[in-house]
Amino acid sequence: MNVTICTIGELLVEFLAKEANQGFSRPGEFWGPYPSGAPAIFADQVARLGYDSLLFSCVGNDAFGEMNIARLARDGVNVSGISVLSKATTGSAFVSYRSQAQRDFIFNMPNSACGLLTADHIDESLLNRCNHFHIMGSSLFSFRMVDAMRKAIENVKSRNGTVSFDPNIRKEMLNIPEMSQAFEYILDYTDIFLPSDGELDYFGLSAGQQEQKWVDKLLARGVGHVVIKRGARGASYYSASEQHHVAGYPVEVIDPTGAGDCFGATFVSMFLAGKPAETALKWANASGSLAISQRGPMEGTSTKAQIAEFMQKHP
Ligand code: ATP
Ligand code: MG
Repeated sequence: MNVTICTIGELLVEFLAKEANQGFSRPGEFWGPYPSGAPAIFADQVARLGYDSLLFSCVGNDAFGEMNIARLARDGVNVSGISVLSKATTGSAFVSYRSQAQRDFIFNMPNSACGLLTADHIDESLLNRCNHFHIMGSSLFSFRMVDAMRKAIENVKSRNGTVSFDPNIRKEMLNIPEMSQAFEYILDYTDIFLPSDGELDYFGLSAGQQEQKWVDKLLARGVGHVVIKRGARGASYYSASEQHHVAGYPVEVIDPTGAGDCFGATFVSMFLAGKPAETALKWANASGSLAISQRGPMEGTSTKAQIAEFMQKHP
C-alpha cells in the first residue's frame, strides 16, 4: 500500500549548550541553530526512508524558517503545508544536558509562528492525501493546536486511515492544561501508541504493576499496537497476538535528542508499508541509535541504506 504520513506541529530551531550542566543562567557557548521540532524530525525521518511525508506547521519570515523549510524539502518532505507568517518569528528551543537522561529546555513555542497554527492552516485537499496521521504530545501546547489535531484525526479516520501517538512529554510543558486534557481524547483514536518507559506512569502504570497488565488494558481500550521506547535498553512491541523485545545497541551517545522521533518514524512507516512488527522494531532500534550518534536533533535522520549498513556492522 502507498502510505502518506502526515504530522502537525512545531518546527523550530534548537540551540544546544556546549558544556554539561551549562544551564541558562550564565553566559555560555551554544551549538546551533539546528532544524528541530519533534514532528519535523519525525517527518524528516519518514521522508529519508523513502516514504511520502507531509508536515503542517508555521514558521516566521526569517532565516530560521528558511533554513528549516530548505532542510525538510532537501530530505523529501512535502513542505506545501508549511505556512510562512509575516507577523511572527520562527519558534526556538534551548537545551542543556545535566546527564544523558536529564536535560533542561527553554522553549519559545506558544508565542512563536508555530504557536499561531490553527485548524485553518490545515489545507483540506492536502490532508485528503494522507492515510496516516502521527501526533506528538509536545505539540499540544495550545487550544488552537489541539483543534488542528482534531480536524486531522477526524479527516483521516473518516477515510479509514490510522493514527499514531508519541506522548513525547517535556516536563517544562506539563503545566499546560490543554496538553493533558487532549491526551485522553487522542488515545481513543490511537492505533499505534509509542510512549517512552519514563512516561508509562503518567499513563497509569502503577508502581510494581506488571507492564503486560498495563499493556493489556490499552489493547482492550482499542489501541492496536503498543511500542515502548527504553533508551539505551532498547524497545518492546506488543499487540493482542505478538510481542517482541530488542536490546539497545552499544553506541556512543553524542546527542540523545531526536532518538525517539527517528525511532517512531522508522517503526510507523515500515510497519504501515507492510513489514512485520518485529522487522519494523529492529529497524527502528537501529534508527534511534543512529540518531544519538550525531549532534543536533535532526542531523541524525537516516536512509534505509544507512540503517541496513549499521545493522550489518552491529549484528
Ligand atoms: P526523545 O523524545 O528524546 O527523542 P524518547 O524518550 O522518545 O526520546 P528514547 O527511548 O530515548 O526515546 O529513544 C528511542 C530509541 O532510540 C530507543 O528505544 C533505542 O532504540 C534508541 N536509543 C535511545 N538512546 C539510546 C542509547 N543511549 N543507546 C542505544 N540506543 C538508544
Ligand atoms: Mg520522545
